[in-house]
Amino acid sequence: MNQPAQPQTAVIEDGDIVFDCPSCAKSLGIDYHGAGYLVTCPHCGLEIQVPEVEVVEDPEGHIADAAHAQIALDDTTRMLNEKIIGLQKQQAATRKQFEKIGAEINELQKALDRMVALLTEAENG
Ligand SMILES: [Zn+2]
Repeated sequence: MNQPAQPQTAVIEDGDIVFDCPSCAKSLGIDYHGAGYLVTCPHCGLEIQVPEVEVVEDPEGHIADAAHAQIALDDTTRMLNEKIIGLQKQQAATRKQFEKIGAEINELQKALDRMVALLTEAENG
């Protein structure tokens, strides 16, 4: 399970974003995929947003004591999955409704054809 807010030794990799926690000013490193996401500071537990910039080029540098922050993605991922499932259900329902509407239109067209035929008969008869 995810255990946030535990300080850990840094493993800053190439392409990681390194930034300072605005609360405790400790250096944090996170995979660049985490840019813009909310993370939990492993030092003070504060929820902070990962900046979009400052990708590390040299992971051996001065940020060696940075800790990896925990991405708080679980809730967001679950919410998005539920939304996707909901949209898929909606799409299936909409498709069924369109099929029904198509069938109704066919019936109406047949009825119209019959009416036109009857009117033509009446006119000619
Ligand atoms: Zn902090």
